[in-house]
Amino acid sequence: MTHYVCTGGCGGESETPKACDNPRCVKFTQPMTVCNCQDTQHRDAYEQPKPPALTQ
Ligand SMILES: [Zn+2]
Ligand SMILES: [Zn+2]
Repeated sequence: MTHYVCTGGCGGESETPKACDNPRCVKFTQPMTVCNCQDTQHRDAYEQPKPPALTQ
């Protein structure tokens, strides 16, 4: 089942798309990553390729 997880270390999870809402997380306000894992390890989300590096 598709779900969304924050990969910033806060452990945030959601069944619907949303942004991280943990102010202490490095990904606070950033959209959670879609994940389709079935073992709660969220490897799908954590192993997704990183977005292209920003120049500068
Ligand atoms: Zn987070
Ligand atoms: Zn998962």
